Amino acid sequence: MPRPILCTIHPGALRHNLERARRGAAPASVWAVVKANAYGHGIERVFDAFRAADGFALLDLAEAERVRALGWRGPILLLEGVFDARDLELCSRLGLWHTVHCDEQIDWLAAHKTQAPHRVFLKMNSGMNRLGFAPVRMRAAWTRLTALPQVDEVSLMMHFSDADGPRGIDAAMAAFDEATADLPGERCIANSAALLRHAARTRADWVRPGIVLYGSAPDFPENDAAHWQLQPGMTLATRLIGVQSLQPGDTVGYGSGFVAEQPMRIGIAAVGYADGYPRHAPTGTPVLVEGVRTRVVGRVSMDMVTVDLTPVPDAGFGSEVVLWGRSALHGTLLPIDEVARASGTVGYELMCAVAPRVPVMVD
Ligand code: PLP
Repeated sequence: MPRPILCTIHPGALRHNLERARRGAAPASVWAVVKANAYGHGIERVFDAFRAADGFALLDLAEAERVRALGWRGPILLLEGVFDARDLELCSRLGLWHTVHCDEQIDWLAAHKTQAPHRVFLKMNSGMNRLGFAPVRMRAAWTRLTALPQVDEVSLMMHFSDADGPRGIDAAMAAFDEATADLPGERCIANSAALLRHAARTRADWVRPGIVLYGSAPDFPENDAAHWQLQPGMTLATRLIGVQSLQPGDTVGYGSGFVAEQPMRIGIAAVGYADGYPRHAPTGTPVLVEGVRTRVVGRVSMDMVTVDLTPVPDAGFGSEVVLWGRSALHGTLLPIDEVARASGTVGYELMCAVAPRVPVMVD
């Protein structure tokens, strides 16, 4: 028998989350963001649930080919555009829309002998200082692009750095509005955080939600996924493969990371950092054992995590352990965002990090 660890994808929840995003975004069209192999869920596994989106936004040609291979004939957007001039050929053949964020990408288009004209999303740098043209350069880039016979439609796009943070969206929105005020073309602005918090101002013509579709809230300390009526798209669960009884002074795991203060039982769960569970999850990180909330104790190791069985006296060898998501046996929920917060990261990273050795099932 294989190790008892299992990652379960919940298409019903993914469908529900897309519908939730759709309602918030209406009348805007919705890109389902499926980069990073659908945030670790698997493009092929989420495809049916996200069919109701207006398009798929992703990172590279390989992901786009996978979506086309699933039979999707609608829009696909390359969020960072092409990475090399030679990619424009396949981009044309697959009928992809692509972001243009730098002069080099315009040069490549200008030199490209295309069969069919391209639809591009001209990206402004709104203060994130990753990709995009400075606001003062948007008009010149737009003018260059619209003059190219290789291009038949130019839309306008930006990405927020702080839609879920204290700086908010005001400065970025003002910069975008000013830089694009008299440029025609559809607008695509909102990520998940903008859509949840500032839908009326940011929905524009297209929205690009990612994380909410998978049932995790952007990094809001005050509001969790349930507050936003999101359902978890992924459960990571395993079983106890051992139990130990500790006396006061006994220690647990590498580095004796936990010292028992009283007699207690701990369970040994078959999951570790080689499965994608965060090694830096400290003592106290929540887990569910038989649907009951308890905590990690001691250091996470490669293949095992030790958990406190004090709140679950009936638990023993073979008991269900949920690292995040929903207990299949008891229905109890452990939001991935809580685990992420306890371990100093975000739900995005946990989802993306589930390791290839973990078997995946779609329920
Ligand atoms: N748009 C772009 C350009 C992105 O890079 C991302 C993700 O990082 C998204 C949209 C989706 O963001 P989120 O998952 O926060 O909704």
